[in-house]
Amino acid sequence: MKEHKNHSVAILGSGESGMGALRLARKHGLKAFLSDAQTIPVQKQRRIEAMGAGFEQGVHTLDELLKYDEVIKSPGIPDTALVITELIKVGKPVISEIEFASRYTEAKIIGITGSNGKTTTTLLTTHLLKHAGLNVASAGNVGNSFSDLLVDENPDVIVLELSSFQLDGVVDFRPDIAILLNITPDHLDRYNYDMEQYADAKWRLVKNMTQGSVLIYNADDEMITKRVIASDLACAKNQLTTKSKTNSGAYFLEGYLIFDCEKSIQIVPVEDLPLLGKHNKYNQMAAILAAIELEVPFGKIIEALATFKNAPHRLELVGYIQDVAFINDSKATNVDAVYYALDAMIRPVVWIAGGVNKGNDYAQIKNLVKNKVNTLICMGADNVHLIEEFAKDVDTLIEVRSAEEAVQQATELAKAGEVVLLSPACASFDLFNNYEHRGDLFRAEVLRLKKIKEAVK
Ligand code: ADP
Repeated sequence: MKEHKNHSVAILGSGESGMGALRLARKHGLKAFLSDAQTIPVQKQRRIEAMGAGFEQGVHTLDELLKYDEVIKSPGIPDTALVITELIKVGKPVISEIEFASRYTEAKIIGITGSNGKTTTTLLTTHLLKHAGLNVASAGNVGNSFSDLLVDENPDVIVLELSSFQLDGVVDFRPDIAILLNITPDHLDRYNYDMEQYADAKWRLVKNMTQGSVLIYNADDEMITKRVIASDLACAKNQLTTKSKTNSGAYFLEGYLIFDCEKSIQIVPVEDLPLLGKHNKYNQMAAILAAIELEVPFGKIIEALATFKNAPHRLELVGYIQDVAFINDSKATNVDAVYYALDAMIRPVVWIAGGVNKGNDYAQIKNLVKNKVNTLICMGADNVHLIEEFAKDVDTLIEVRSAEEAVQQATELAKAGEVVLLSPACASFDLFNNYEHRGDLFRAEVLRLKKIKEAVK
């Protein structure tokens, strides 16, 4: 842990990570100032003052920010924001909240990133370690910010879910174990619609890794493998693959996940896995490998798998109405997540999709839709893209304007033996507060209709 006493920091943004960074800075006696371009609610203003920090709202004043040694930026602020470019122009160090927090812990860090699967893998890894009796906590893009966690707790192992936004602004941060799940198109609006720039952000997780640290990466993902091959990372490398055998890492063979590790080979039958679908094989392989790296006994891992329950909104089976299954995959906000959702479906699909399109390219799922989807329910303020892309590929296509209407129509249109899948491929902000709100309304309507159908049976 580096000492940074007498240091002063200006923090941009008063959201979760900004407030976390402020609490951590004050805990360590740093002079701190918080600046938010939006209005800060009065209660929060009082909290900032009670911590002995100054603040400004509605504006970022460059002269004020320059009085501090370093600027910590919240993940919501892009590197292209005027305030950031101005600060950088005059040589002021600007770091992310993750970089800042990492200075104040000696815990072992497992850093997890990817376009999809971060939360699932973070929660499963934490569960496996906790079950084995380790003093472990998760933070970052799930639950508390990294800084907040360090104010209140002192775990031996921290499992950090890291988005590309959180990795922007990382300088010296180096996890002990890094998991790189996949790099597929998402959030490109923030990266000049350039996949390489987006991949650069993800790569910041691993760029400082040295001997003694361990990289677990998806060897089936071209964006990742080409970077691993081109790099001179000195850390140990474990591969995840469902395509071929690997001598170092995990692979899938005829119904089994096989872990080929330094000292032993371990095997898990897929029936013992808590999560279905090819995408979850990668997530589960990664979490199990991380636990093996931390020397968790394999018996403990198997025991823990049996009791894992994923967070809601990720291929969550809500229930059956007559013989129609309803699945809530509201967290599928990009095309790759929908690809894996459709791939996992073994029944014909009534697909509910749509919302705010983030520049989607649907080519990847075209064949899956042709082969598996009978009915498409477009749920969004603007359904033009979905209609253009899939009108000819499905038997029935309708438009709806709410989750309730979507479920009602799906119940009418679905035949016995089919599955209704909410897997939107889009952000939710046109009709909903967030993806949780969208999924909660879907679930509530399914359960309401199920109750009615059962009552009139
Ligand atoms: P994240 O935290 O990265 O958004 P989640 O675990 O919350 O990831 O899952 C988000 C969506 O992506 C869900 O629809 C889920 O079914 C899907 N998903 C999960 N893991 C993967 C993966 N490894 N590859 C592709 N899609 C995935």
